[in-house]
Amino acid sequence: MIKLTHIPSPRKFVGSSIRCSNAHVPSSTLRFCAPCLLPSILLMTGYTIRCVIASLALISASFAEKEVSKSADDSKDSAQAQEEQRVRPPIDVQEEVLENGLRVVVINDKCRGAVVFGVLYFVGFGDEPRNVVGISHFVEHMMFGGTKNLSSAELKSLLEKYNASTNAFTTLDITCYTHYCRKEFLDINLKIEADRMQNLLFDEDYINREREVIIEERKMRVESDPRQKYMVEAAFKILYLYSTYSYPGIGYVDQIRACDRQALLTHYNKFYTPNNAAIVFVGDITLKEAAKLAKQYFGGIQKKGEVKRERIIDPKQSELGLTYTMEHASKQIRMHDLDTIYNLDREWIDTARKAIIVEIIQNILSRGEDSILSQNMVDKKELVYAIDSYLDIRAFDKGRYSISAIMREGKGVKVVKKELAALLDNVLKLLTPELFERAKKKILDGIEMMEDDPQNVMQWCALNLGLGYSVADLRNIKELVTSIKFEEIKAIAKKIFTKKNRIMQIYSHPDS
Ligand SMILES: [Zn+2]
Repeated sequence: MIKLTHIPSPRKFVGSSIRCSNAHVPSSTLRFCAPCLLPSILLMTGYTIRCVIASLALISASFAEKEVSKSADDSKDSAQAQEEQRVRPPIDVQEEVLENGLRVVVINDKCRGAVVFGVLYFVGFGDEPRNVVGISHFVEHMMFGGTKNLSSAELKSLLEKYNASTNAFTTLDITCYTHYCRKEFLDINLKIEADRMQNLLFDEDYINREREVIIEERKMRVESDPRQKYMVEAAFKILYLYSTYSYPGIGYVDQIRACDRQALLTHYNKFYTPNNAAIVFVGDITLKEAAKLAKQYFGGIQKKGEVKRERIIDPKQSELGLTYTMEHASKQIRMHDLDTIYNLDREWIDTARKAIIVEIIQNILSRGEDSILSQNMVDKKELVYAIDSYLDIRAFDKGRYSISAIMREGKGVKVVKKELAALLDNVLKLLTPELFERAKKKILDGIEMMEDDPQNVMQWCALNLGLGYSVADLRNIKELVTSIKFEEIKAIAKKIFTKKNRIMQIYSHPDS
């Protein structure tokens, strides 16, 4: 596995809002299928994972400051005391590594009566061979097809019986299987996962059935939506020339049809091994308890081999020297959209500090109704109905910052495009220390929302571990965030917001 020294991607909880419609999904369980989501996440609102990380740090800092003031001033009034009680401590992430390489990570939260855990494998779309794009997602489907010890029906029955919810998702860098259960059901759920790690069946009939399910998913999520199809399969090909990050996670129909049992088995045997996996627990469980359970069920599983994650890194955008405006007209498009995508060269985002800086810029510019772009384009100029953005800092290669605007009817596509471009070209003048501080506060609010749901905490942890973020990084992020200076924001913004660094995409109805 490649060791990363930088903070991992900021990204949304891919899989958090669209449910996989596969036939293999137990009816009462909740299983998300991230590949299906990939084309649509640009339009989604909410907090990115990086946002969550930064917010976590600020909560920690806030708590520390409260403690200092508490000891210094015994005469605080009751309102202040209540405020101090409200502030929660930082999330304490702990880790133990078993002899076979399996990482056991625990976020102990005694307030929870149940436990969420996820078994994650360090493999995703970015690790796939070019001739079998979508195979990580295919293997994810196969994980519900039974083992040498359990039929798919028995597996389905157990998952339903011993979980409040289960799900699975595949991202660019990880594949994760999660369980939300009562503490006394941890044994049976861990036993299931240990079985799936080593004894997956790959039944031919199940493969054939799931192949059709996946092709249907692609039709639903990609083929039927021109906007998503263009975004994934056209714009990504411009952003990423060679990198496997340009591939659609759901795969291509011809390749999915050609993907056979041997290909699936090869992928599974290469990546589904304890030394390429981690279990993340969140809830009423200590590290000692979790490690004991992990040793009991996974300790005897032998490594299948060393795992190497090999990636092709694209040239920097500045070296390519290409700029684009893409226009897509389709009768399926009702609302006219304008997407503006800024490339994030690897060197702008290859450290924790830089990644958080970019996230703060995103917050100031394009998150919420009080952001610069919303205030100008929605309220002041009344050119668009809404504006939002998506930040994607990838683990191994360039990232992107995408701004999506839904244009008002009758305003004229060229006018909207010109006004937005002009605003972005002058963005340096619009950044202020006040907006900078407010963005930090917004990030803090985001972590409080994340903390309310242990499933979100688990996903946050899993995604960041999967991208090379260490447990120590997770714990110490607050010092980093609080030390960022306003001047640093401006310096990075100056690099990002240039005409040569952006792609603009217009989606409209041909009759408009
Ligand atoms: Zn799926």
